[in-house]
Amino acid sequence: MKIELQNLTKKFPARGKKGGEVTAVNDFSFEIPDGELIALLGPSGCGKSTTLNMICGLEKPTGGRIFFGNEDVTALPPELRGVGMVFQNYALYPHLSVRQNILFPLENLKGKDRPSKEEMNRRAAQAAGLVQIEELMDRKPRELSGGQQQRVAIARALVKMPRVLLLDEPLSNLDARLRLQTREEIRKIQKETGITTVFVTHDQEEAMSISDRIAVMKEGVLMQHGRPQEVYDDPASLFVARFLGTPPINVFQGEVKKGMLYIGEEAVLPAAGVPDQEVCVGIRPEGFLPRGDGELGCQLSRVEVMGRDISIVSTHPACANEVIRSIINADTQIDASARTVRFSLKPGKVFLFHKQTGERIRFTAG
Ligand code: ATP
Repeated sequence: MKIELQNLTKKFPARGKKGGEVTAVNDFSFEIPDGELIALLGPSGCGKSTTLNMICGLEKPTGGRIFFGNEDVTALPPELRGVGMVFQNYALYPHLSVRQNILFPLENLKGKDRPSKEEMNRRAAQAAGLVQIEELMDRKPRELSGGQQQRVAIARALVKMPRVLLLDEPLSNLDARLRLQTREEIRKIQKETGITTVFVTHDQEEAMSISDRIAVMKEGVLMQHGRPQEVYDDPASLFVARFLGTPPINVFQGEVKKGMLYIGEEAVLPAAGVPDQEVCVGIRPEGFLPRGDGELGCQLSRVEVMGRDISIVSTHPACANEVIRSIINADTQIDASARTVRFSLKPGKVFLFHKQTGERIRFTAG
């Protein structure tokens, strides 16, 4: 089921005495292709949950429209939208068994929508099978681990055979290992069922690893969307560049003079087509090539060996990050006792941004 969000806006009355309004989501337009998994990604308070709640029908938009396929669902109540929703706090009924929890949404259906008892049991077994909890059906939620509880919540959302699956930070209550495992399971289930899925997270790594597309939000506004690798390789703004990637992008103050990019006094890269100006320079950790005659000189702090890669940790007065982290192949020979390290830069891993607005400035290196 394709989902189309057209100019969605949501304003809330501001809390507190001053009155006024908070714009939680601002003119958000986005198309989610049928069968894809999309991550809504952004820092706390950027409007991710509000967007999800509007898709689900829990919040009514102040402006704009929502389509499921060709159907305008903007005014449709949640129970008629055919959505399955999973929240951060699994919200299972503690007094019901796993089976009863999964059956609950079906037993609540009325009239002709209510399946026969047999059909309900068949669907519950199928949903439990998808998330691999068949052997836990008679337990109570308190007898399950966090990961198992979350799987029950997912099965409960799947049992209605929803047109759309909505997941709001579904992994944040799990420990690191379970997070990894559960996110892979979610991806597998999503692929198997082909249900169009929207996944809310503030964790960029999570979003990058499981989604077909990501939509990065800031203060209610959609900043950029696309396939994870595309957005990582071609960020439209400093905000997006900073938000994606571990270790994070290294940001320097720089200046373009006569078609050449300078960091401090050093000319580090040609920047053809850019008018003279001060700029922010973003360099991905994998954009540094250690070379004795490299253009950029940094103070070496330490070298960390991480198996396949090494991380060179250094500093530079023009760098806004506390330390510069560069990731290079472990075969490279580095003198860890040296006081300085020199780097050449890989042009495709260097981005320029407008100093005030943070907008990307495109350039040709050479
Ligand atoms: P988080 O990751 O912390 O859950 P989020 O990106 O999901 O954040 P939202 O919960 O959608 O963000 O909130 C967006 C903005 O709208 C925030 O400034 C929030 O304070 C505000 N907001 C959300 N719900 C309400 C409400 N019911 N009344 C007033 N303001 C609200």
